[in-house]
Amino acid sequence: MTRSFIVLLCLFFAGTLTGSPRAAAQINEGSTYGPLPVFEFHSGFWVNLHHTLYQEAKFGAPQDSSSAADNDKAPGKNRPTLKTSPGAKFPLTPAEQRAWNEAVSYYTANYIDKDLLFTTELILIKNQLGDFDGCDELSGRKKETCNAGLPANLTHVLEAAAPVYRAHQWPSHDLANRRWVMRVAPLVREQGLGLSQRLADIYQTKWPKDKIRVDVCVYANRQGAYTTLDPLRVTISSTDPRNQGAEALEVLFHEASHGIAEPVQQAIIRECRQRQKGIPRDLWHALIFYTTGEVIRPVISSTTTDSTSGKVSTTSYTPYAIREGIYQRGWDGYLKLLTEFWQPYLEGKSTFDDAIARMVSAL
Ligand SMILES: [Zn+2]
Repeated sequence: MTRSFIVLLCLFFAGTLTGSPRAAAQINEGSTYGPLPVFEFHSGFWVNLHHTLYQEAKFGAPQDSSSAADNDKAPGKNRPTLKTSPGAKFPLTPAEQRAWNEAVSYYTANYIDKDLLFTTELILIKNQLGDFDGCDELSGRKKETCNAGLPANLTHVLEAAAPVYRAHQWPSHDLANRRWVMRVAPLVREQGLGLSQRLADIYQTKWPKDKIRVDVCVYANRQGAYTTLDPLRVTISSTDPRNQGAEALEVLFHEASHGIAEPVQQAIIRECRQRQKGIPRDLWHALIFYTTGEVIRPVISSTTTDSTSGKVSTTSYTPYAIREGIYQRGWDGYLKLLTEFWQPYLEGKSTFDDAIARMVSAL
């Protein structure tokens, strides 16, 4: 649930973007889940392999990798936990085990000190792997258009680990991803367009014309989802308990809001400069948590009437930031400001500029 501004420095990717098989991956995605408004969901093999290797290198192997598809039924939080015995639960041949261990070691040596969200190198790798969804190789040895232009060592490691992953983990990972998409798809179909328009209006901007690519992965980052810009892409964990049910819709729109909330940041900065105040860290982020929660709340909350007793009952929706205690992590002051000055704007009782100005003066 964080963001990163990316300047695309296509160093080792230079010259490899022509003939990308992205179109094939989109067609595949469309026929499985779509057409849906606003978002375009992908359960991509390479992106999942990449996040699985990163996860295992950083946190150890899951204790039962065969049950990934059922993880969403498990109680408690699915935050990464340190596990031992990498690969112990799936019966690999010695050669498979070697290839897998080499891949995990490569990730340990090269990537675990780097952040999936904040390191340009990892963002470029993730995006490039997404674009080569439709390829069963990355080197272009068999098919020229499948040369992803990744560093040679990484290409070698991923291609060696691919058959192991495909045989042992990918079927359950892909199933978990597809089930997650199937569950969220009706909500996106019903509410997606309306929510995107409402959020764009609130932030006084336009929603992106193209559908936002969402890479659905068994593992994302510690927060369960992250968004990278230029191009705007969301990576979300299909098994993280925080991303299930109606809550998945809020997480998707929170993440997408990272790509359109620039006018809020600019307005906060402008007001702070005018008042010679320090720019509050993360106020904009608290604001998009708050806003997405408030916009989703009436859509998800429902009123039902019992046909026999006639009793009316209301199921109210608790926004993510409240449910997960986000404001209690040092943002209590922001919540007060948002409730007092931003909420009237959401209710049409104040203007965007007034709301931001009042929040900043009250800081
Ligand atoms: Zn966020």
